[in-house]
Amino acid sequence: MATDVAELQSKKPHIVVLSSPGMGHVIPLFEFAKRLVLLHGCHVTFLNITTEASVAQIQLLHSPNLPLGLSVVDFPPVDLSGMVTDHTLALTRLSVNVQQSLLSLKSMLLQLHRPQAVVIDLFCTQAFEICKELSIPTFMFFTASTHLLAFSLLLPQLDRDVTGEFVDLAAPIQVPGCSPVRTQDLLDQVRDRKSDDYKWYLYHLSRVPMADGVFLNTWEDLEQLPVRAIREHSFYKKMLTAPVCSIGPVIKETEPVTGRGTECLAWLEEQPANSVVFVALGSGGTLSAEQLTELAWGLELSRQRFIWVVRTPNDANACAAFFDVGGEMNDPKSYLPERFIERTGGRGLVVPSWAPQVAVLQHRSTAAFLSHCGWNSVLESLAHGVPIIAWPLYSEQRMNATTLAEEVGVAVKVAGEKAERRVVGREEIERAVRLMVEGREGMEMRQRAMKLQESAMKALGYSGSSHESLARVAEQWKATLKN
Ligand code: UDP
Repeated sequence: MATDVAELQSKKPHIVVLSSPGMGHVIPLFEFAKRLVLLHGCHVTFLNITTEASVAQIQLLHSPNLPLGLSVVDFPPVDLSGMVTDHTLALTRLSVNVQQSLLSLKSMLLQLHRPQAVVIDLFCTQAFEICKELSIPTFMFFTASTHLLAFSLLLPQLDRDVTGEFVDLAAPIQVPGCSPVRTQDLLDQVRDRKSDDYKWYLYHLSRVPMADGVFLNTWEDLEQLPVRAIREHSFYKKMLTAPVCSIGPVIKETEPVTGRGTECLAWLEEQPANSVVFVALGSGGTLSAEQLTELAWGLELSRQRFIWVVRTPNDANACAAFFDVGGEMNDPKSYLPERFIERTGGRGLVVPSWAPQVAVLQHRSTAAFLSHCGWNSVLESLAHGVPIIAWPLYSEQRMNATTLAEEVGVAVKVAGEKAERRVVGREEIERAVRLMVEGREGMEMRQRAMKLQESAMKALGYSGSSHESLARVAEQWKATLKN
């Protein structure tokens, strides 16, 4: 393997980073890997689960410009036929894929001469036993909010104590040291306790305490209560005895921009400062045909500038693009309202499937982000001082949207009350977009987002809390190398 030579020649700790497939996990773990190499003197091998990897994932991990000291090693593909079908829920499909792929993990770690540590995401917890057998410490990088982690660590207890569905509880769920979670905001994976997705979520979650350390992708000013609770509340202290470090925001810093991405940025250059709404629903998000039409009309009626990452509508599934994002060939004209592109041309830009999100959020012309509130999108938006029009779709995004709107004050919610399953009308969308770009409330939210941007930069700076936390762990890894 390519890593061997570099590793043998160097005195740097060798860390393996392992992510489950899906851009929402691969992007932050890959970024984490780069930071270990560029800022903390480590060698990193990133293990890539190739089965069901999207085109976007393949392009990211096989880009030619990886920093020296970072290599990507592919898992052999596995055959999932007979284990999953087209109807298998997303987390179950992903977990079965990971389980089968990790059958090769032991031999890969041996070939890599037993690294100093392995860092995994939440859905690779089968790695704990394998690494233990090889005496390799295993850390977890939690890719979602710390509030979600706090809620989820409560799950084994809720599972024992509550009969019936959590969504039917009469009151919000009290989370030690944190804001309660309203039942309508509960993540999809815990809304049906008979589902396979629930069983997998509970399985992975119950195993978090096996980690030798937990990295949180957050910073204290953004999530003060949850970060403190996880570190200091007796409920979590008893459960998580290993160190817990907030090291975020770990987000893409720059990204290679090619093809349509270049077009996107060239178009942004032509627009006035703080004038464009960026509309993108994460790596998997899709809308129903009816909802897509309303969103198109809402954007058009608002008369504001926009960049819209569009995907073929799907009436049955809100995350239909999850497994093939970036590869989908879609023709927006075939599903957008007739002549929408012509009518909004000059004021709006439609980009099929995928756009360079961070580069767009960094741009001075971007005023607001209409987002599904996946945690990476939230971090990327706030780290660039951009307020959010929250349109949660799946997973834990409703929780994120509520916190951002009601506690942090950087978002306005237009959709996402699960119980309603309603189509959000064009007037409501028009109002939210106008409010965010032209209104006083939008300006206030932008100011709060900009304060968070400042504090994020401070946390990541050389003596900042996030940088220091990761530096301390890297020092420990280096110390084990000397022994
Ligand atoms: N993303 C992007 N371009 C797109 C859509 C998404 O670069 O057109 C990236 C985005 O920057 C983020 C990730 O994909 O890093 C999505 O992660 P998030 O947690 O927001 O949502 P998920 O895809 O997991 O639902």
